[in-house]
Amino acid sequence: GDFPVEVDTLVIGSGPGGYVAAIRAAQLGQKVTIVEKDKLGGVCLNVGCIPSKALISVGQRFVSAKESDAMGITASDVKLDFTKAQEFKDGVVSRLTGGVEGLLKGNKVDIVNGEAYFVDENTVRVMDEKSAQTYKFKNAIVATGARPVEIPSFKFSKRVLSSTGALALTELPGKLVVIGGGYIGTELGSSYANLGSEVTIIEGAKDILAGFEKQMTQLVKRGLKKKGVEIVTKASAKGVEETENGVTVTYEVGGEEKKVEADYVLVTVGRRPNTDELGLEQVGVKMDDRGLVEVDKQCRTNVGSIYAIGDIVAGPQLAHKASYEAKIAAEAISGEKSEVDYMAIPAVCFTEPELATVGLSEQQAKDEGYEVTAGRFPYAANGRAIALDSTDGFVKLVARKEDGLLLGAQIVGENASDMISELGLAIEAGMTLEDIAMTIHAHPTLGEITMEAAEVALGKPIHM
Ligand code: FAD
Repeated sequence: GDFPVEVDTLVIGSGPGGYVAAIRAAQLGQKVTIVEKDKLGGVCLNVGCIPSKALISVGQRFVSAKESDAMGITASDVKLDFTKAQEFKDGVVSRLTGGVEGLLKGNKVDIVNGEAYFVDENTVRVMDEKSAQTYKFKNAIVATGARPVEIPSFKFSKRVLSSTGALALTELPGKLVVIGGGYIGTELGSSYANLGSEVTIIEGAKDILAGFEKQMTQLVKRGLKKKGVEIVTKASAKGVEETENGVTVTYEVGGEEKKVEADYVLVTVGRRPNTDELGLEQVGVKMDDRGLVEVDKQCRTNVGSIYAIGDIVAGPQLAHKASYEAKIAAEAISGEKSEVDYMAIPAVCFTEPELATVGLSEQQAKDEGYEVTAGRFPYAANGRAIALDSTDGFVKLVARKEDGLLLGAQIVGENASDMISELGLAIEAGMTLEDIAMTIHAHPTLGEITMEAAEVALGKPIHM
């Protein structure tokens, strides 16, 4: 037998949940070990948020190089070297994963490569190809993330891709079919359409991008159609046949069976938590029937020494939510009274235009019993948006009628992803429409749209 290594806090998984938890726990004086079976940075840095945004940037630059005639720019012979584009993406990823490694080391966190498995409520075994080592911990933070759901009729292969496969392609697909119009499928579909692929999105529900309001998603759909993306809704994907250099996908829509040929099919129909191969049941950690770990407001499971954060607990599967819970769990372990408060988790979809929400939509606010006042201001009435030649979109603010307390915000348009932060802060700080309307926003900026949306809600807009 091996000698167990003793640590204060053992973190399992090094995604935006795990690495942030490890750093914060170390900052608070804990002796921390982080275990990662694959690459530092988790899904987000290696095969999620970051590489997808790198490819999205490439696609947008490519399109704007070709399509800026309105500004007097005509470029001929604009070409894409897909291999170089992938190298750019890989460079972005390795710069950031290298950064995470540096930060962990800088905070004296021990990094262990291997797969962790719970033996009891204070013991984990870590195995790599050659050896096994036991760790005794006072507390463990589990942040093992999620993986793409694989449906039996679409087994992943060289041509049947998960999001990971779609990000790692070595050739640009001539034709790509995307099954599942959630934000991951839509972002990747949109990006490949920009790069030059012919794209079809097949969605089971009556619309793509469930969770965002219709007034927002219709702008994205219009943008996708302009790129030539075909969107088939209320359709069910039946199966796939691999041909020599492609696939034939069968789906059913309106009671009719249809076939579409493509070079590749991307299947993005959800992500399931990595909680099934960890020994969690064995130590008595409670999970629901979808494999999500049950936790309290400090991210502690029913087993007092074990915490869980990120994609393996309930709530939106988003990197910033994982990192937020990471700080709460690390602080709780260090004896602080921190608790989660999910009032203002932003959600962003990096399509064209971008979608971003935080807090409650108008309907959600009404459903929760609020008397609501709302204000909406269009990009088309903003000087900066016009100068950017990017006038599709709006900012909508939702507030409590009696006092104007901000309850939520929805943005669709250029840079919505950055603009939403101001409104998250406003909600966290308990600000009102008046506060936003009377905050001086620099001119000319897209931020002025937010200020004017508040003025609309207050009934006295200047520019509308
Ligand atoms: P993960 O990042 O999944 O990390 C878990 C880590 O644990 C992995 O590295 C895994 O190898 C390791 N692990 C698992 N089991 C073990 C074990 N037994 N022992 C040791 N290590 C183990 N979110 C956003 O907020 N914005 C975006 O733009 C965005 N874009 C995305 C695009 C794509 C294509 C995908 C797939 C996801 C995207 N996400 C985005 C979601 C985001 O990636 C996740 O919400 C986030 O990574 C969750 O973080 P986590 O720390 O919970 O887990």
